[in-house]
Amino acid sequence: MKTAIIIGSGFGALSLGIRLQADNWNVKIFEKNQAPGGHAQQFKKNGYTFDMGPSLITAPDILKSIFIKAGKDLNDYVSLVPLDPFYRVYFHDKSFIDYTGDSQRMINQMKNFNPQDADNYNKFIDKSKEIYKAVIEDGLGSTAFNNLGIMLKFIPRATKLNALLPAYSVASKYFEDFRHRFMFSFHPLFIGGNPFKVPSVYLMISYLEKAGGVWYTIGGMYSLVQAFVSVFKELGGELYTNSEVNEIPVKDGKAIGIISNDKFYEADIVISNADVTRTYSILKSKDESYRNGNVSGKYSMSAFLMFLGVKKKYPELLHHTIILSHRYKELVTDIFDRHILPDDFSMYVHVPSKTDPSMAPEGCDSIYILVPVTNLQAGVDWDKEKTTYGDKIINFLENNFGLEDFKNNIDFIDYFTPKDFLLQRNSAFGTPWGLEPVLTQTAYFRQHNQSKKIKNLFFVGAGTHPGAGLPGVMLSAEATEKLIKKYH
Ligand SMILES: Cc1cc2nc3c(=O)[nH]c(=O)nc-3n(C[C@H](O)[C@H](O)[C@H](O)COP(=O)(O)OP(=O)(O)OC[C@H]3O[C@@H](n4cnc5c(N)ncnc54)[C@H](O)[C@@H]3O)c2cc1C
Repeated sequence: MKTAIIIGSGFGALSLGIRLQADNWNVKIFEKNQAPGGHAQQFKKNGYTFDMGPSLITAPDILKSIFIKAGKDLNDYVSLVPLDPFYRVYFHDKSFIDYTGDSQRMINQMKNFNPQDADNYNKFIDKSKEIYKAVIEDGLGSTAFNNLGIMLKFIPRATKLNALLPAYSVASKYFEDFRHRFMFSFHPLFIGGNPFKVPSVYLMISYLEKAGGVWYTIGGMYSLVQAFVSVFKELGGELYTNSEVNEIPVKDGKAIGIISNDKFYEADIVISNADVTRTYSILKSKDESYRNGNVSGKYSMSAFLMFLGVKKKYPELLHHTIILSHRYKELVTDIFDRHILPDDFSMYVHVPSKTDPSMAPEGCDSIYILVPVTNLQAGVDWDKEKTTYGDKIINFLENNFGLEDFKNNIDFIDYFTPKDFLLQRNSAFGTPWGLEPVLTQTAYFRQHNQSKKIKNLFFVGAGTHPGAGLPGVMLSAEATEKLIKKYH
């Protein structure tokens, strides 16, 4: 049996670990932190449970395919619950849309804001479906773009689908009302993309959600991490936690293993699920050119997270709620390009206890707030800023948004800032999404799933093709597995 070492234990790593174990590799995963799961950590306090990263499950078929590969059934490991609506989006004037996969309910709501837009809903969804077909059904998402030929083959089809134009401009061709322009262009933000810049290939997420639904797992996202870890171990995989990889020794052009906790572990292939910049910095070889990876690009946004135990239930908040500032393009530009922390913000609020009472004490809610913010290139001192910034958000929710007596009902608040992404997860510039998925950093132009110079060094996860998000990193595992098979 050949040995594969994976650095990091995010969903990309766990998916590939399962795939390779099923292919008869001996897989060892090394994770720097105490618990596996990467950004999908969970913590408990005073009877409240919080997922700290991903919270929306989409594309359940991609999830299931990993379990099928292992000869297992996902339903034996987790209880998946469909959510309807997927989320509620509040606009700055307090009008809202309950975003759902039910076309008629979407059309009925949209008619209130702009009847012509409502008429165009189905046309937009058809467009999103065509892109989805190319990326998911025809396998572009799970095919490594490591040679220009694959990219050149895709370009005529992508051009025909308008998939290379910016997402917002394509959505604007179908919709007039600012609410609809937001609703049908914001999905790239889920994967760290600026809707005004990323190619509209990411608009396929609208159809991906519609076709597969939005789901929750009882016990929270971490129950999914536990399911992946269980399957990985049942197949014979080994997981080493508290085991940061500090070196990847390279000899005669090959990665010969890794060094962790001062010990050398030999491997036939090494796969990095860690941040790409970090991976290149730990490559050790006399040939310094090996360290010169594709790490000088433009980095994505970061996130400011708050976890609140709240002793009251607020009907205004659904399981997933998005609350928007009056500014869209300008706010996104502040975050991605101007690198400033403006006075206004938009936020995503996750209240899993709305669906799953086990997540909070009776009569209470566990509330997770995610505010997209600029990454550490802005030089914000988050240790100093976090409580002031957090207070601003709480004040907004009570005084402007209207959560009655919110402050007095908060049991406790914990924070997680861009600095924590850097220190705890090794995310360059504190961005969990890696390089921004603009056209020049997408597909062939993103970090390839296999190193160009060190042929037995592979990549999996958000930093490589096709990109961030659970479906993205699980597809990256499939793409990398194909390359490993070819190499081997
Ligand atoms: C706040 C937030 C909310 C999100 N919401 C959603 C959502 O709702 N739905 C969705 O689909 N996606 C969401 N995402 C995106 C999704 O969570 C990520 O894209 C995905 O989890 C990344 O997986 P990955 O495989 O790239 O690994 P990561 O999760 O990036 O894990 C990499 C791991 O490598 C470890 N590591 C780094 N360096 C080393 C080293 N030298 N040695 C050992 N270990 C190392 C890190 O500690 C980490 O555990 C969200 C992300 C964040 C941050």
